[in-house]
Amino acid sequence: MNYTLANVPATICKAMNIPLMEGAETQPINEVIDLLKGETVERCLFFSPDAVGAWIFDKYPQYTDKLMDVYALKQPLSSVMPSVTPVCYATMIAGVMPEVHGIQKYEKYPITVETIFHALKAAGKKGCIIAKTDSSCEIIFRNAPCDVIETESDKDAHQKALEIIEKDEYDFILVYECEYDDNMHATQPETDFALGALKYNAESAVELIAAAKKKWEGKKALITFSPDHGIHTDPVTKLGTHGTSLDEDLKIYHLFGVL
Ligand SMILES: [Zn+2]
Repeated sequence: MNYTLANVPATICKAMNIPLMEGAETQPINEVIDLLKGETVERCLFFSPDAVGAWIFDKYPQYTDKLMDVYALKQPLSSVMPSVTPVCYATMIAGVMPEVHGIQKYEKYPITVETIFHALKAAGKKGCIIAKTDSSCEIIFRNAPCDVIETESDKDAHQKALEIIEKDEYDFILVYECEYDDNMHATQPETDFALGALKYNAESAVELIAAAKKKWEGKKALITFSPDHGIHTDPVTKLGTHGTSLDEDLKIYHLFGVL
């Protein structure tokens, strides 16, 4: 099957054995359900690095290979159009296409459609978002029924995520890191500046998973690596960008594993 970001909430809800919010795409990613072998998970660590496209993932195994030591599944899927951060995040967390959630261009406002966080709350589970202040992820889900922990940088997000995992108060933790996106927009996708952030994002995911594995011992948990879109170099400005229907922008991998 060809999956898009809209299939993500059904996958999470099915894995956590909670009813999906109304209106969301109901088809889960079957490969993830197969990974669970009929079991369900109590917890989910949803690690979301901005702009890590499939091609950059494959081109720099020196940074991304270590992810495949902890995630069991590398699932190709498609971003949505226009492939810009707020449009993509709203679809990934609400499970509906842009014409339904309303964000159809680069603009940030709290969406009013239901999200994974509504499904979690309705099932008596607690979710939280760890995201940079005024980032798409922080603004769009500001009014969602979950705690939003604001950060200043990816390192801060990582540190706060470690603290949140240690406190163990949440069933679903979304960690948003955005410096690969920031750095490649300021330069190009393959500069040392951008790749340094990619390397950091990969290391951050691996370290957070190790912490979650330790803390959640005896509990089943789903771990994800869930970017929003890819990237390319604008032929005119010579800067990193995205938003088009080029494969470079639309093709991504979502990684999944079970602890
Ligand atoms: Zn983005």
